[in-house]
Amino acid sequence: MNANYKMFVGGNWVEADGGKRFDSDNPFTGRSWASIPHGTTADVDAAVAAAKSALTTGDWPAMSASQRGALLRKLGDLIVEEADRLAEIETRDNGKLLNETSLQIRYTAQFYYYYGGMADKIEGAVIPVEKPNIHNYTRLEPIGVVAVITPWNSPLLIAAGKIGAALAAGCTVVVKPSEFTSASTLALAELFERAGFPKGVLNVISGFGHEIGDYFVGHPDVGCVAFTGGTSTGQRINEVAAKTFKKTVLELGGKSPNIIFEDADLDNAILGAVSGIFAASGQSCVAGSRLLVQRSIHDQVVERLVDFAKSIKLGDPMAPDTHMGPIATRPQYERVLSYFDIARSDGAECVVGGTPLDGDGQFVQPTIYTGVKNDMRIAQEEIFGPLLSIIPFDDDDHALSIANDTLYGLASGVWTQNMQRAFRFSHALQAGQVWVNMYRAASYMTPLGGYKRSGLGSENGKDHVYDYLHKKAVWMNY
Ligand code: NAD
Repeated sequence: MNANYKMFVGGNWVEADGGKRFDSDNPFTGRSWASIPHGTTADVDAAVAAAKSALTTGDWPAMSASQRGALLRKLGDLIVEEADRLAEIETRDNGKLLNETSLQIRYTAQFYYYYGGMADKIEGAVIPVEKPNIHNYTRLEPIGVVAVITPWNSPLLIAAGKIGAALAAGCTVVVKPSEFTSASTLALAELFERAGFPKGVLNVISGFGHEIGDYFVGHPDVGCVAFTGGTSTGQRINEVAAKTFKKTVLELGGKSPNIIFEDADLDNAILGAVSGIFAASGQSCVAGSRLLVQRSIHDQVVERLVDFAKSIKLGDPMAPDTHMGPIATRPQYERVLSYFDIARSDGAECVVGGTPLDGDGQFVQPTIYTGVKNDMRIAQEEIFGPLLSIIPFDDDDHALSIANDTLYGLASGVWTQNMQRAFRFSHALQAGQVWVNMYRAASYMTPLGGYKRSGLGSENGKDHVYDYLHKKAVWMNY
């Protein structure tokens, strides 16, 4: 029987206005496993009204910063307690390996501990303006109701930095998870209730972005939009938010270069290339989907990657020995498959994978293309699947020009033992993160943001709290 989820609005568990629901499908079984309220614009109104009211009335604005921090840390404890259950929900919803969701959910708690610790360290300043009898100081005040909108690939992890920082700042929040993976965020709301957050501080609504997204983003009582998702959706959100002069923080797509030089420790570089593209079946914003390989080692790198790709076991994401699960959603599965034809007509050579698998599951085999030119569609468009484009290069300048020749700028990797080169590339790569002799590392302490069309602003780290604060200057004549 399907699990029946409800939305959490103003501290109450509610059905959608009109009572409609939709199914959430398990990408491994292909069957519906959960029933989700089909939220409407009336539900957006109710959730934003609850969040607006909690901002100025009741216990939340009366709480000290330390008390807010303690609540966030309590929430972190509850997430650790419930990690297994939450991880299973996410694996059922998006097909990510249970091994990985279990780690991710536990890691999610760290964001709430971190921002809980920051709540009472948000300080204004006294400014020594050169005027007699004037006391000038700044106050940092919550920006208001924060709309948090998340994608399907890591729902709770991606929401955590935004919610944690916004609540540390004293804001209130309305979250809308992806329509493909609403269940874990609706389940998270229970933990906010158990932790003792005042009603209306955290609200979760479910529904379809194309139906309620514009209304939510444009809502006059929303003060800031914190979004992770596709670049075209981010662009749309920015257009709508601009009409009401709302602040946005946008974490978007990528087409990241992972560069292997001939002096690299090749064993590590191969592992980095494999995890860069095949982890989470390639459904990762930072996927190293363009592998730039120095020509002198090109053939041996290709050979080793092909062997590795052939050893990857596809299967049930709940099983501990599965290496790669299914593609999370049907539309995404069909989109990924469409790139097999695109690559063929672009003239790339497929050295492993590249054909649909028999059977019903939404599985895509690890696929590697050689002979890729950087202007081919497979090298320029975010595929969000396990398709790797290998592009040879001759020297440092050549590698750098290929790496930066993209509309995106989210992540990048460099594999070399040459320190001068490591620094040169770290500074010259136009990307929000550069990994040297490693790939895919991330931390709640470190900013995550994109250059170019990969985003606007950054999240995580101390500075993210200031995205959710107004800075007010007070002048006092005494
Ligand atoms: P998506 O843009 O289709 O959807 C993301 C969210 O936006 C969903 O909740 C959706 O309902 C909502 N939405 C859709 N239209 C909207 C609108 N007009 N207004 C407001 N909300 C709207 O993205 P997706 O397919 O769920 O996720 C995959 C994308 O996310 C990839 O491009 C990936 O690179 C990106 N991503 C980026 C990061 C990062 O940190 N930069 C992390 C993970 C995923």
